[in-house]
Amino acid sequence: MKLSEKLMKIQPSVTLALTSKAKSMLSAGENVVILAAGEPDFDTPRIVKCAAIKAIEDGLTRYTPAGGTKSIKEAICRKFTEDNNLDYDISEIAVSNGAKHSLYNVLQVICNPGDEVIIVSPYWLSYPEMIRLAGAEPKIIKTKPENGFKVKAKEIQSAINKNTRALILNSPSNPAGVVYEEKDLREIAEACLQAGIMIVSDEIYEKIIFDGRKHVSIASLSPEAREASIVINGVSKSYAMTGWRIGYMAGNRKIAGMVTTLQSHSTSNPCSISQAAAECALLSDLKKEMKHNCDEFEQRRNFLIKSLSESAPLKPFSPDGAFYLFCDISGTGLNSLDFSEKLLEDKKVAVVPGRPFGMDSFVRISFAADMKTLEEGVRRIKEWLSGN
Ligand code: PMP
Repeated sequence: MKLSEKLMKIQPSVTLALTSKAKSMLSAGENVVILAAGEPDFDTPRIVKCAAIKAIEDGLTRYTPAGGTKSIKEAICRKFTEDNNLDYDISEIAVSNGAKHSLYNVLQVICNPGDEVIIVSPYWLSYPEMIRLAGAEPKIIKTKPENGFKVKAKEIQSAINKNTRALILNSPSNPAGVVYEEKDLREIAEACLQAGIMIVSDEIYEKIIFDGRKHVSIASLSPEAREASIVINGVSKSYAMTGWRIGYMAGNRKIAGMVTTLQSHSTSNPCSISQAAAECALLSDLKKEMKHNCDEFEQRRNFLIKSLSESAPLKPFSPDGAFYLFCDISGTGLNSLDFSEKLLEDKKVAVVPGRPFGMDSFVRISFAADMKTLEEGVRRIKEWLSGN
């Protein structure tokens, strides 16, 4: 059977595969501790659920404009003004089925065959595959834990060539929880502006940030940076709404228009009910809930760092945001796939191998799980490492 050559080169998502394997073990009655989740373990706020029910009852059950309703776009513009000091017009916004879909669409719109898109390793595992699906090639810059897994403007400059189309930046990042500070971002923006490449800024973990840090959007640094940037965000992680599938892009009007056209021929509009729910999340005062979730993640991070730092030979990297702990396992002598598989087999603890994130000597431990689960997971990991 002859199938798409483009798709034959794409790997399935390891995180989704591993989570579903662990979940099916769990439903088969096995006592599995899942530290692999890519989503908050909190529930969607009640007010948001009520808005969805109201939307159904009010008959908002039909197609909407392909790129989202006028009212959700207005809510997104308000969010950008209030949170990021960025003013957009609704013509510069396109709403999609999750931030993943927004990224996919943007890459389809900005890339041509032969283009390169720079990504920073460790990277979110969907970036290279999405870039390839857009006909371009990922250009990977490796970073090190001793430099906070941060890319430097100089390294970006050296990676740029005549084929470079864009840089994808992710702050706070998945899988290492790296948060770029304004100073770093200014230098990166300058390097991209000088070379005339675009910046695709994935800010999906914006609200999950620790130790009083503040998220800065690279697009907000100057009118030029705004011009060169496409900001990607959504409601999945901020409001515990992963299943509702609402993400969005903000930036150049022509790109927003082309994303909408692409979407109009592929998925049509994002779910009308989810749009109403996301609009409610964006417009409501949910600061208390969000602070609670963020504080909870911070406490779990502190617990994991403390307890795993004591567990030689693991070397956990302390995240400044998001809900993952990227942990150096090189001292165990195992690669990340063997580590994750053996840990699941021997102790029934699911973590995600670092290989698809570009680093095979690391695993990603999610702390989107309650303290009891984390404590049990750590206990089993320690027991496993000590050979019991
Ligand atoms: N970007 C990053 C870095 C992510 O980790 C994820 C989700 N795992 C997404 C984007 C996609 O989020 P959404 O659920 O809104 O599609």
